Amino acid sequence: MHKNFKGIEKTVFGRGSFSQLGDILEEKRDLNDKFMLFVVDEYFKGKSLETRIPAKPQDVVIFINVDIHEPTTEQIDNLRDSILQQKGLPSGVIGIGGGSIMDIAKAVSLMFTNEGSSTLYQGLNLIKKPGIYHVGVPTISGTGAEVSMTAVLTGPEKKLGLKCEWTVFNQVVFDPDLIATVPRNWWFYTGMDTYIHCIESENGILNNAYSHAFAEQSLKLCREIFLGNNSGQTPENDDKLMVASMMGGLSLTYSEVGICHAISYGLSKILGMRHCYANCVAFNHLGDYYPEGVAEFKEMISKHSIDLPQGLSKEWSDEQITAMATVSYNLPHMWNHAIGSDWKEKVTTKSIEGLFRRL
Ligand code: NAD
Ligand code: ZN
Repeated sequence: MHKNFKGIEKTVFGRGSFSQLGDILEEKRDLNDKFMLFVVDEYFKGKSLETRIPAKPQDVVIFINVDIHEPTTEQIDNLRDSILQQKGLPSGVIGIGGGSIMDIAKAVSLMFTNEGSSTLYQGLNLIKKPGIYHVGVPTISGTGAEVSMTAVLTGPEKKLGLKCEWTVFNQVVFDPDLIATVPRNWWFYTGMDTYIHCIESENGILNNAYSHAFAEQSLKLCREIFLGNNSGQTPENDDKLMVASMMGGLSLTYSEVGICHAISYGLSKILGMRHCYANCVAFNHLGDYYPEGVAEFKEMISKHSIDLPQGLSKEWSDEQITAMATVSYNLPHMWNHAIGSDWKEKVTTKSIEGLFRRL
């Protein structure tokens, strides 16, 4: 069976396009209880962007600190319950921030119309009803969360997305001005998530002409941004990074990620390491699986003088390593893509433990 996936319904791209958000929302303002819910990265509190949020007096604007923890099921349930109790059902929800905020906006949009806790819906196609209108405004680029069909949540039992067609944003506003202030290390790690998405999407059995075309273009942009003569955080490169992130996301949607993401999920789940950083930590040691990709990644690390820690595994207990390897092994779609359908004959939790011990 071939995937039949849904894309973003409407897209606006360009420097300054954030100013169009008010007009975009206007036609939706009569829906439900006639107010908008803005969820915004707390980084923007007190910054000029705060004054540009097109909120009306009836709207709710909530600032969220995404550095405390990645989005949780409890956080989504509480947000939904308190808004419903205080104001009713919003006309729409707008997420202004990185992957964390965009996932919160997607998840809460679904949970406004689906009863019970979001823990009930972690997985593929478990959501029963479409959510409310939702808009993504990325302010850091790389994860591809702006185009993906999933909203990743950490629950008491699992870190797993609410994944279905209705998760996809109705509208995305791509304004490269908004990513200009991303700190350099985050710019690098998050940008590398895109690069790794493409390398992994390309190197596996599910790669095809459709995913390849997006990966090829996204990789070309990544090389200009991180290795070209004019590499670095420039306005021109920010334009490119926003597009590269989107295309990397589309590539993996129609192919799959691989070994680096399988390892990175273990690091995030057991050690709480953040997604893009964990990918960089892992990818650095996967030269035998992705020789050209890892060699180029090392060039980028060196060009931008990024420090990646070595010898981390010395600090980990055997139990932690086994737990991480188990998380990783339980991502069969990634191993299947990267190694082949006979992957179980070649990969064991013990061999995955060996990969963690390299880090
Ligand atoms: P993030 O949203 O976690 O933000 C990273 C840091 O950058 C934070 O400190 C944030 O405050 C800061 N920041 C964001 N925009 C900024 C700006 N313009 N200027 C200055 N600082 C800014 O970053 P992320 O890496 O995009 O997202 C990670 C999250 O995305 C994780 O929770 C992960 O699980 C999730 N994720 C989701 C998908 C998906 O398809 N839904 C895919 C991969 C990862
Ligand atoms: Zn990723």
